[in-house]
Amino acid sequence: MANKDEGLTVNDQTETPVIVFDHVSKSYVEGSDNHALVDVSFTIKKGEFVFIVGPSGSGKSTLIRLIENEIKPTSGKIYVAGRDLGKLKKSQVCKYRRSLGIVFQDFRLLPDRNVYENVAFAQEVVEAPKKKIPREVSTMLTLVGLSHKFKSFPNEMSGGEQQRVALARALVNNPMILLADEPTGNLDPQNSWEIMNLLEEVNKRGTTVVVVTHNHEIVDEMQKRVISVQEGMIIDDKKGGYGLV
Ligand code: ADP
Repeated sequence: MANKDEGLTVNDQTETPVIVFDHVSKSYVEGSDNHALVDVSFTIKKGEFVFIVGPSGSGKSTLIRLIENEIKPTSGKIYVAGRDLGKLKKSQVCKYRRSLGIVFQDFRLLPDRNVYENVAFAQEVVEAPKKKIPREVSTMLTLVGLSHKFKSFPNEMSGGEQQRVALARALVNNPMILLADEPTGNLDPQNSWEIMNLLEEVNKRGTTVVVVTHNHEIVDEMQKRVISVQEGMIIDDKKGGYGLV
């Protein structure tokens, strides 16, 4: 997976803001006092690995959905790679979303397509050159350790394997940012660690990684930046473990 900005040194990468929330609030019900996010500001720099933690209902998924531009903030601004998401034209939204890699708790693979086809589908959607697709898919399946299972269907695979396919699919278009919303929520500890180790590997190759999780053990062990959310507000933002949330 080549980093598109190969000319940058590691230091340069870590200084470039890639996700900026500037006083963002989100209320799902217009005029309601019930805010999912309240005046949230933070910056994630290029090449960072960030955990977002907090109790259920604290606003974590809202934050991810805002980055995806699936929903719009009620107030405030969000910039991704210098682009004001509020100014994206309708025609640009699909292209923007395709520049992100996204992994969900429930894998969301296409059940009637095999492993190869699931990953290749992501390339077809962005109209990648047909000749290049087999090589790109094969590289990603090797990265996640599943090249031998390319003909298997999702229902023939374990949860851990399905999540690795989902990860290969999220990465095959070489996204600048990988968003993972509870990627280990349906996995046992061993598979959870395999996924986290892969996310760390992907991050080492230059992709900015943002992971929503409830998994205290993993957050404590990995010692990354942790943004803690509670009742729609950031209550802590530092490198280290899960904290008291
Ligand atoms: P988390 O991901 O931390 O569990 P969410 O971002 O899903 O939290 O939710 C934050 C708050 O917003 C909660 O109070 C939740 O009930 C509310 N909420 C989330 N999605 C919607 C929605 N589509 N419509 C109305 N309220 C919502």
